[in-house]
Amino acid sequence: EPVSTLVEAGSSYQEGAAALSRIAQVERLATEPVDRRTGALPGQKAAMPGPASVRFEDVSFHYRAGLPNVHTGVSFEVPGTGMTAFVGPSGAGKSTVFALIERFYEATGGRVLVDGKDVRDWSLPQLRSVIGYVEQDAPVLAGTLRENLVFAAPGATDDDIHDVLARTKLDTLVDRLPHGLDTPVGHRGSKLSGGERQRIAIARALLRKPRLLLLDEATSQLDAVNELALRDVVTEVARETTVLVVAHRLSTVTGADRIVVMDAGRVRSVGTHEELVVQDRLYAQLAATQLLAPTR
Ligand code: ATP
Repeated sequence: EPVSTLVEAGSSYQEGAAALSRIAQVERLATEPVDRRTGALPGQKAAMPGPASVRFEDVSFHYRAGLPNVHTGVSFEVPGTGMTAFVGPSGAGKSTVFALIERFYEATGGRVLVDGKDVRDWSLPQLRSVIGYVEQDAPVLAGTLRENLVFAAPGATDDDIHDVLARTKLDTLVDRLPHGLDTPVGHRGSKLSGGERQRIAIARALLRKPRLLLLDEATSQLDAVNELALRDVVTEVARETTVLVVAHRLSTVTGADRIVVMDAGRVRSVGTHEELVVQDRLYAQLAATQLLAPTR
């Protein structure tokens, strides 16, 4: 038995040593120093201020060679303002729009432009500094509310934090918590509701002062109060920042400035809620099943 324990210890040691050497390699990787506020690399001009515009020009995309196209000839334009929602059946390719804007993947055909510039011509740190991305069911980590907010924006001041908390309607939550911002929010935010977790993720993204906010709406059901709060927050943020929302519930986006209806990797139609209920049969069906009563 002692011999076998020793042998096991030897192999654990080797695995640990290999992992440590890999960590050391990653730590030595060169990083591009970036101006935190503007996203500019040294010697480059700061990115254009104000809300960013987005354009897809005849974009085709598949995740891997041999897999079918997830996007086929996708084109749409989002001017640098307001809220644009993407709706459509599951698997239509909505979240993939965000993956291409963030350049997690590159289009296999056509072009994706942010501020009129092909995303492949941006430096990645600069592109990502323009974008705030709130993923579906974004994580809230064990730790305090403050830690959860500032980990992506370490330079944020208390004034910055209180400003985004007010904008995301979380100020009342902070007042309710026993130690305010310094209250631990529990493992994966278990002490918070789904709606509060999503708004914390939005607040965290806003602290980095993005010019383009990508919000992949949580699929989990929100209660009516949280749903209304989320809608108000997004509408408010869209006054100063371009906001793109992948919507799993029409009720949160009926007031969007434009709605892009996607189906099977293509754009079916673009319009406001009022236009689409009349013009697009698929949208009218979605509206009929999801909205018991018109929301505006
Ligand atoms: P949902 O409303 O269910 O979130 P969606 O409209 O956002 O769907 P996408 O997430 O963009 O759709 O996915 C479009 C298609 O691409 C789906 O068939 C999905 O299975 C596939 N897909 C998504 N991510 C990947 C990936 N990383 N690798 C391979 N296929 C993927």
